[in-house]
Amino acid sequence: MGRTVGIDIGTTTSCIAVLEDSRAIVMHTESGDRTIPSLVSWNEDGEVAVGRDSRREWFSNFDATVFGVKQLLGRKASDPYVQELARQWPYAVVAATNGDAWIDVAGARRSPNEIAAHLLANIKRVAEHYLDDTVVEAVVAVPASFDDVQRQAITDACAIAGLTLRALLDEPTAAALAYGVHRQHDQRIAVLDLGGGTLDVSIVWIEHGASKVLATRSDPSLGGDAFDRAIVGMLADDFMAEHGVDLRRVTGQDPRPVPTPVWLQQQLKACAERAKIQLSSATMANVTMPFIVNVEQGPLHLERELDRGQLEHACKALLDRLESPCLAALVAARCTPSDLDHVLLVGGMARMPAIQERAAAVFGRPVRTGANSDHTGGNPDEIVALGAAVHSGILRG
Ligand code: AMP
Repeated sequence: MGRTVGIDIGTTTSCIAVLEDSRAIVMHTESGDRTIPSLVSWNEDGEVAVGRDSRREWFSNFDATVFGVKQLLGRKASDPYVQELARQWPYAVVAATNGDAWIDVAGARRSPNEIAAHLLANIKRVAEHYLDDTVVEAVVAVPASFDDVQRQAITDACAIAGLTLRALLDEPTAAALAYGVHRQHDQRIAVLDLGGGTLDVSIVWIEHGASKVLATRSDPSLGGDAFDRAIVGMLADDFMAEHGVDLRRVTGQDPRPVPTPVWLQQQLKACAERAKIQLSSATMANVTMPFIVNVEQGPLHLERELDRGQLEHACKALLDRLESPCLAALVAARCTPSDLDHVLLVGGMARMPAIQERAAAVFGRPVRTGANSDHTGGNPDEIVALGAAVHSGILRG
């Protein structure tokens, strides 16, 4: 008959869950990963690699690897938001004949729907391998701020991937379902979703199993990527102060093999992200990139320690930006913090202690990040997929 799964197709990573014996569980890949990178790449023979396979080729096949496609779905190339993204991305965003934002990659113009379909088809494969069963239907979570065109784009991508879309579910509602809040009475919940690309703050009202998103406010350029770039900025500033070399302007003109600037930028960003993730559980991280650049006197190495305080200092301006969408969402939902019953944090960045502290300060109450909840198992980047799986169960009664 085929199974129904819950899917969180994320900007940076995706996650799939299923309901087993009335309990939502995350499905892992063959290699044991509970989340899947939202990456698609094409090799020289035109073969497509998705997820972990694509990430493995990331540095060698950087120019033909697409990330962040969720941010383009259903948008026009002339959209200022798209143009801002295009300035930061290594691949060209081009206008299709109807003005839609497409990507020029690996020698072809491709629609975000087609690229998202590759992600979804891979998700379907992972789920079928895990379940040893066919997967035909999905509940897919989307940002509450998605408009009809963006929702249609996801629907089309599901169809291309061979998935029947059972329902599109707003991500904050999915989060509330994962926490089991739908079984409670007259609950107002703030859901702060900070992933790789964007911040969405939603106020959700739950009443006897029914839910309504009262308001959503976003900061479309506040996500993990922005934090990574801030850390790179600090590393580059300090390197400049120490060695007089600006890592942001390395031209690769040295006769010895030096990394190309784009490659170097990506290496730096990956290094910054690793340190950021490490500093969510440790108070000190090592940042090491040997032979980062060649100068007349020989190769230079980036080698330093970074503590949590330095990380938070580098990201202060970004942390300060959390407050405004939270307050705007409260105003739009005609709520005050004291009207809220819960504050839920979701998205990979919810693991950063400074994010948890800021959110608690803005809403004036403790925040929940997944631990001790119904289905969540303590992982904020799995909550939305788990909620989508719970919703698939509700749909089946
Ligand atoms: P998502 O799209 O929800 O999977 O979130 C992805 C973002 O979360 C990326 O920017 C990751 O670097 C970030 N992230 C993942 N794990 C952690 C962690 N432990 N601490 C801080 N950020 C994290």
